[in-house]
Amino acid sequence: MAKRDYYEVLGVAKSASADEIKKAYRKLAIQYHPDKNPDNPAAEDKFKEAAEAYEVLSNSEKKQRYDQFGHQGVGGAGGYGGGGMNMDDIFSQFGDIFGGGGGGGGFGSFFGGGGGGRRTKKGTNLRVKMKMTLAEIANGVEKKIKVKRHLIADGVTFKTCSTCQGAGQVKKVVNTMLGQMVSASTCGVCGGSGQIVDKKPADADARGLIVKEEVISINIPGGVAEGMQLSMSGKGNEIPGGIAGDLLIVIEEIEDKLLQRDGNNVIYDLYVSFIDAALGASVEVPTIEGKVKIKIDQGTQSGKMLRLKGKGIKDINGYAKGDQLIMVNVWTPTHLSREEKETLENFKDSDNFKPDPGNSEKSFFDKMKEFF
Ligand SMILES: [Zn+2]
Repeated sequence: MAKRDYYEVLGVAKSASADEIKKAYRKLAIQYHPDKNPDNPAAEDKFKEAAEAYEVLSNSEKKQRYDQFGHQGVGGAGGYGGGGMNMDDIFSQFGDIFGGGGGGGGFGSFFGGGGGGRRTKKGTNLRVKMKMTLAEIANGVEKKIKVKRHLIADGVTFKTCSTCQGAGQVKKVVNTMLGQMVSASTCGVCGGSGQIVDKKPADADARGLIVKEEVISINIPGGVAEGMQLSMSGKGNEIPGGIAGDLLIVIEEIEDKLLQRDGNNVIYDLYVSFIDAALGASVEVPTIEGKVKIKIDQGTQSGKMLRLKGKGIKDINGYAKGDQLIMVNVWTPTHLSREEKETLENFKDSDNFKPDPGNSEKSFFDKMKEFF
């Protein structure tokens, strides 16, 4: 599930002007607005996707990075809405695109949504850490996680809050030197939802919520990295009169004892004996998918790098797979028996044992350049 191109999402050409981008976003935002599409997760996804695209393409710096590097350039990796914007972000950031007359009316007033900036309330997000091995990261994995969620208990009924008459806000008239001023604040009785519990089962709290442990299964795409955050919308805490929060999954990499990650590549330090390097050998090396045999050519120098194509980590955008790079280190013996010493001393004056790096071997830095 690769991310769609932002220009494609908004249906504009790459050459589109800022104004065209804004118009295109406005059209989509109206079409997929949650007020117009209640309980329609597909529309919500479209709405979020459009907002994410607009967030990048309306910012000249981000747009430039996106044009140059694609989704990676703007940190928009990850198949779960990019771990990016939630509804609150969208409303607070782009509310003014609708010209909703000054005081925070935004979307609400544009759609005539019940006056006074009423906004859908959202439950709190849950955050879990997910430890992943290199093998899991390489190919992606399905994980089951246990979370304790606040859920609206079965059998709870609500009634309109009598304190605020369902508005979620209470207005207070204050006498000041400048005359009377009206201030509005969130209703303390219903917490702003406009509703209070009417009937509830015994195990639910005053808000009609119970805490329930749930097992949620999540498909983690290959190529995630330490600190990356995936979000599953609607799997957080529920809230009366609003939508559920999100479940945020923060990735933690378990360090591998043998293989070192470098972007989508993995690096393995191989040590071979001086004899194997000189004569050539077949040696076993670990990879993410188990051991493989590789051939060490006769006359291999220390510092040579070998590449196992496609034995690395899947790209998070799903396009390609990295490689395993094998760095060959030739092990010089540190202890020798008298007999071994004598044998080696016999070759001391042989030209074959004299280093001659200039002709045959590229320097380490030249090789690095070749590889990256
Ligand atoms: Zn109230």
